Amino acid sequence: VLAEILTTGTELVRGDLVDTNSSFVAARLTERGFVVSRFATVGDDRGRIVDALRAAGGRADVVVVTGGLGPTTDDLTAACAATAVGVPLVRHTPSLDAIRRRFEAIGIPMTANNEKQADFPDGADVLPNARGTAPGFAMTIGRARFFFLPGVPSEMKHMLESEVFARLPAAEAAPTVLRLRVFGMAEAAIDAALAGVEDAYPGVVLGYRATFPEVEVKVQATAPTREAAQAIAMKCFAVVRERLGRHVVAEGESSLPRALGEALRAKKWTLAVAESCTGGLVGALLTDVPGSSDYFLLGVVAYANEAKEGLLGVPRETLEAHGAVSRETAIAMAAGVRARAGATIGVATTGIAGPGGGTPDKPVGLVHLAVAGPNGVVHKERTWRGDRDRVRRLAAHAALFEVLERCREAS
Ligand code: ATP
Repeated sequence: VLAEILTTGTELVRGDLVDTNSSFVAARLTERGFVVSRFATVGDDRGRIVDALRAAGGRADVVVVTGGLGPTTDDLTAACAATAVGVPLVRHTPSLDAIRRRFEAIGIPMTANNEKQADFPDGADVLPNARGTAPGFAMTIGRARFFFLPGVPSEMKHMLESEVFARLPAAEAAPTVLRLRVFGMAEAAIDAALAGVEDAYPGVVLGYRATFPEVEVKVQATAPTREAAQAIAMKCFAVVRERLGRHVVAEGESSLPRALGEALRAKKWTLAVAESCTGGLVGALLTDVPGSSDYFLLGVVAYANEAKEGLLGVPRETLEAHGAVSRETAIAMAAGVRARAGATIGVATTGIAGPGGGTPDKPVGLVHLAVAGPNGVVHKERTWRGDRDRVRRLAAHAALFEVLERCREAS
């Protein structure tokens, strides 16, 4: 079943507003087994909207249109849909009453413009909007069934589920989608590691999406029945997981910080963090996860040498002999924060995020990570290319990854 998405709005074509509606609708349609073949966006212009409706109606089976249902003069969608098939607009009394009641309830006078929102192409099926004033509608143009929804994302999302999908059953061949997240491998390396997997599992398509600094890998399986698709997806997923090995940090909707939280909670371990170059990013990633107080005890941003010495107990001689960005300082920071918090694990970051501050010995992008735990200390030295933001985010995730590795080793 071929689907197209049409978004309308002059703000969109001028670049004032990013079209997030199309990607949301496309993802939901794809999950339900539709093949989305085209996105189109047109400004608030009668001629262009009518042309776009007729063109999509000549190609697709299903078209979802968003925007232009409001009360203002640039809201033209219903009139254009009527023109596209040559029917008049007719006033829908139940919708007019519903709009009137909504205005009464919020105590704002209703204007003649608002009445326009109850006008629909003759013969259209009106779709109630529980979250706003403008109802949507469904009708056939050419060979396609069209669903017209408001532009406001929260209203559109709600109506897509409650109205559109109620009228549009999922295809029996809806794909099964299984996801995992990878850290520490570039997309090209993942692609190379998974060479041949699609050929070995007919019906499977692999997808990659960079959600920096993690990469999401999607196993999408299509088969004549849902059960068959699930079976292939699960077999293929196991192979993908094995090939990517320890770089797989999370599955499903989870992410590295969530997966680490689950691992720490399962072991009843606690964590303390000493950060220099990451400036609190590690703590922020950890505390983004609800319930992180179960395992995250303390985070210290020790930027100055005096703070590293005074708060974390890094010996002055270590700082003088090796510098703040060194293996020795990272280890002393991790051990220091672990001891001060009384945590199972202490992790530390210290590095040169740039753009300045690099030397031939210690270039921009150099980061030392250390994890102190019940089985001793692990140190990692990395040099990442890229700007300050990239280096810091990679370092913060790498610190969490190293802690996850210690949890895995101990299980
Ligand atoms: P309303 O009845 O609330 O006026 P509408 O159907 O007339 O809804 P528009 O006027 O086209 O919708 O858009 C309303 C608002 O919704 C826009 O100002 C914008 O904030 C948001 N919006 C519209 N289209 C999109 C889109 N494609 N992606 C993301 N946001 C959008």
